[in-house]
Amino acid sequence: MTFPQPRPEIAALPPYVPGARGDASVVPVKLSSNERPHPPAPGVADAIAFAGESVNRYPDMAVSRLYEALAAKHGVDQAQLAITGGSVAAIGHALQAYAAPGSEVVFAWRSFEAYPILTMQAGATPVRVPLLLDARHDLDAMAAAITDRTSVLMVCSPNNPTGPAATAEEFEAFMAKVPDSVLVLLDEAYLEYVADPAAVKGAEVLASGDHPNVVVLRTFSKAYGLAGLRVGYAIGPAEVIAPIRACVTPFSVSSVAESAALAALADEQSTADAVADTVAERTRVMAGLRAAGWDVPDSQGNFVWLGLGDRTAALVERLGTLDPPVLIRPFTGEGARISIGARDENDAVLAALADGPRALGDDA
Ligand SMILES: *Cc1c(COP(=O)(O)O)cnc(C)c1O
Repeated sequence: MTFPQPRPEIAALPPYVPGARGDASVVPVKLSSNERPHPPAPGVADAIAFAGESVNRYPDMAVSRLYEALAAKHGVDQAQLAITGGSVAAIGHALQAYAAPGSEVVFAWRSFEAYPILTMQAGATPVRVPLLLDARHDLDAMAAAITDRTSVLMVCSPNNPTGPAATAEEFEAFMAKVPDSVLVLLDEAYLEYVADPAAVKGAEVLASGDHPNVVVLRTFSKAYGLAGLRVGYAIGPAEVIAPIRACVTPFSVSSVAESAALAALADEQSTADAVADTVAERTRVMAGLRAAGWDVPDSQGNFVWLGLGDRTAALVERLGTLDPPVLIRPFTGEGARISIGARDENDAVLAALADGPRALGDDA
């Protein structure tokens, strides 16, 4: 039997490895996907229930109410926004629009799991630039990796899975070396958690008007707690955004997702409270782990990184055999990302790791 053959770059795609969910028999502590541990804002569930009564109807294809609300929130024209089914889709559509087949897409590595997959889906070639030893982007090396084939550069700040944010100064120095013809995607999925005043802020980069080739990506999946609903967006100059909007799958933002996002935006206090709690817990977890002897890069996200190399599996095992098991996100042979959860969940991690890396029982 012969089957239709896919494009070779699609056949070669690596699978996306999602955070572990555990099996149905035990309720694990899920610190594997950088989710908000607090429930969404109180109005969100009502908005979902209300919208649910009319899901026999198509959503508003223009997503008008959410465009209006986000334009007001960011002080931009609606034409400067592209709302998508999660910001992963915004990245994908930006690559469809700008990363021609055969062109090169430069990003840091290790960074977000989805970047190489989305790049290859667009038919472009991923160029991975290793992080610095302190787990930060090597922006000099990324600028040096630009060739005449480079179409898009991605900067993830704070970087998933390692945590550090790029500084505004570093980003400016980097942009000075990037040709205007190269699109720069600044992925700010974790922007709400950034506490370092020196960190780059996409909104300020856009407002300066200095870099018309920068598009900023934001999401409702992390701080707003709507990961299950899939809403994200891109912000940039209208001329750069229009081709991204042209690639959006029609009706891909559901009516339920739009209503929930509006309800979340109507209660920014709930998000601010959840973020403040997570940032305080992040400080506590980083301090506790460091005091126990773990090497933890500065995290500006809702997660911490332990770059354990070969001992990564031992860490996963240690946390996975607790009762209840604590699920984290390992990257085999490199390290593991542990999301910041609720206080008692973080306590379980700190208690299990109190003896430091030596307790993993090898070359520490
Ligand atoms: C979680 C995450 C996203 C957001 O994904 P959604 O599709 O909006 O759920 C984007 N970029 C990075 C780096 C992330 O970690």
